[in-house]
Amino acid sequence: MNHGAILPGSSLGVLGSGQLGRMFALAARRMGYRVHTFSPDSDTPTGQVADVEVTAAYEDLDAVRKFASQVRVVTFEFENVPAPTAAAAAERAQVRPAGLVLHTTQHRLREKTFLRDNGFPTTRFAAVKSVEDVRRAAAEIGLPAVLKTASFGYDGKGQNNVTSLIEAEALISSSPNVERIYEGFVDFEREVSVVAARGVDSAFSHWGLIDNTHRNHILDLSVSPADVSPKLAADAVEIARGILQKLDVVGVLCVEFFLTKSGQLLVNELAPRPHNSGHLTIDAHVTSQFEQQLRAACGLPLGSTQPLKPAAMANLLGDLWSDGEPNWTAACAMPNVKLHLYGKSDARPGRKMGHLTALADTPREAAKLAIEARHRLTR
Ligand code: AMP
Repeated sequence: MNHGAILPGSSLGVLGSGQLGRMFALAARRMGYRVHTFSPDSDTPTGQVADVEVTAAYEDLDAVRKFASQVRVVTFEFENVPAPTAAAAAERAQVRPAGLVLHTTQHRLREKTFLRDNGFPTTRFAAVKSVEDVRRAAAEIGLPAVLKTASFGYDGKGQNNVTSLIEAEALISSSPNVERIYEGFVDFEREVSVVAARGVDSAFSHWGLIDNTHRNHILDLSVSPADVSPKLAADAVEIARGILQKLDVVGVLCVEFFLTKSGQLLVNELAPRPHNSGHLTIDAHVTSQFEQQLRAACGLPLGSTQPLKPAAMANLLGDLWSDGEPNWTAACAMPNVKLHLYGKSDARPGRKMGHLTALADTPREAAKLAIEARHRLTR
């Protein structure tokens, strides 16, 4: 009857041990699964709530094989898991999503090339390594532009805006032979995302269009549903559906978009895992992105993504701790605000320490409430 589904009581593995793994582990434990986590660190956000925390280097493939042999399925919570690590895990357990999804999405050039070649809308881009490449790219694509390293980029890391050719050339000369992507600068109206999931049976689900505001390249506020026309939201969901299908994703994937001033959707980035903009689904939807990741990884039917209420999520960065411990009681005094903390002891500026989710009758009210709650933490 269960068509090979991995059932409650089984052990599941997570590569990575940050907050995404923690929220996955909480969803999994609620449904009676056991969770093992693997990363180079100890006392991690995931390890604190998992059954087993393995501390070893991702390059220690024997440790990876041993880890995978103790679980039924391995998933991951960050996309920079090295390819040999995912391959070693696949020798001993199912890996979902499959290593090919990681391979495509952990490298900005491969990702954008995949998108362009399959007809998904993106900003114009070119691969650049040398000063000659950057001259050619500037002539073809124009300025201003954004130069990003092809690998290991997130939250604006390895990313520079350039407004002149001199600036672009200087950047390339300062670290030559680094693989980079040269992207046309998008003067966007706003940023939006679709978090979506696909099951082993190809079932597709999504949480609609979410409106995202960034500060210093880091997500600051997400609001659901985004205040756009039903047609635009439906178009974004169809793009997401096509991407998950083409990549043959079994799991959760987030598509981040720019919405241009002329109303065009351009895909900026893919994240093959639950995403910060989907954290509000824990409190605001029947099934959260983490439970859906679990269901997909285990081959269970996907749950309903029906919204319960409009919602907003405000990130809590380490900066909030600059004058001591935030005033949690003040935020908890707001009855429609939910506090999530990730168990990190070292509150560095810019580090994601937790988030607040506010529920209200309209997205705008929810956003006001989330911002007010965060403000109260330091008042
Ligand atoms: P990324 O690491 O690619 O998600 O970029 C982080 C943030 O930088 C995005 O959320 C945007 O706010 C900004 N950004 C990235 N690429 C571009 C672009 N081509 N044009 C304008 N802004 C960009």
